[in-house]
Amino acid sequence: MNTRSRSYDTDTIDSVLLGYIAGYSQRNISTITKIPRTTIREWIYDLKKGRIATPGSIEHAHYWVIEYSTEEVVEGICKICFQTRKFLNRIEDNNPWMTREEKEEGLWKNTLVK
Ligand SMILES: [Zn+2]
Repeated sequence: MNTRSRSYDTDTIDSVLLGYIAGYSQRNISTITKIPRTTIREWIYDLKKGRIATPGSIEHAHYWVIEYSTEEVVEGICKICFQTRKFLNRIEDNNPWMTREEKEEGLWKNTLVK
């Protein structure tokens, strides 16, 4: 591990590398994890050079990131392990008492497609 990466914990680095292994672009990983692309690029480089071990599984509760959409079924990406899962988009768009954030939060909490 080089010195530039030390401000992040192992799980964070593993998470980014899981995203890379799952086939996400550095730009996508950066958007999901909020980690700068230059840092992500360093970690991937170190992984290829064998300076970082291939990540195993990370113990966590999935944290689904779902883009706001009007589609009936939407895809969520876990920002920790980069698994994807489909969710039913049942939130009423015309409910004036819910903010957009509440609607998005409601999606991943309540409507997992079985
Ligand atoms: Zn996960």
